[in-house]
Amino acid sequence: MTCKDCGKDVNPQQFKASKEALGVALCERHTKLIKKVILDNDTPIDAIHLFYALKDAGVHPMLEWWDGKRSVDIAISRVKLNIEIDKNYNMITHEQAINDLEDAMHSFKNGFTTIRIPHLAIKYYLDETVENILGIIAGLKANIKAV
Ligand SMILES: [Zn+2]
Repeated sequence: MTCKDCGKDVNPQQFKASKEALGVALCERHTKLIKKVILDNDTPIDAIHLFYALKDAGVHPMLEWWDGKRSVDIAISRVKLNIEIDKNYNMITHEQAINDLEDAMHSFKNGFTTIRIPHLAIKYYLDETVENILGIIAGLKANIKAV
């Protein structure tokens, strides 16, 4: 058993603890790190799962990336893609809705594409979600080349 982040050996006890807490096998250091990220940013657990699934897929994602104005759940800087996880559509307020749109507009002006992914898609269709993001990355790469 190895840490999904650094590849270090993880003992069975640590494996179980990190799996239970985060749903991902991580060493002690990375479990602490990710827990701190969650505490500091109120990061949804689904973002953590997607982050490591993207890493597995060979993408170089960044977790809670600060874009100068706000923290983006996951960013893929090479193609200027921001990924936001929607925690709960029913809980969204009208202020939140318009703020999200404004954030997306500001990012777009800076050359960033923002996609919002419902947490349920990650929870139930992680592989498909990753496949679709890989497709978006390929599309963005093609656009960058075309310019
Ligand atoms: Zn580690």
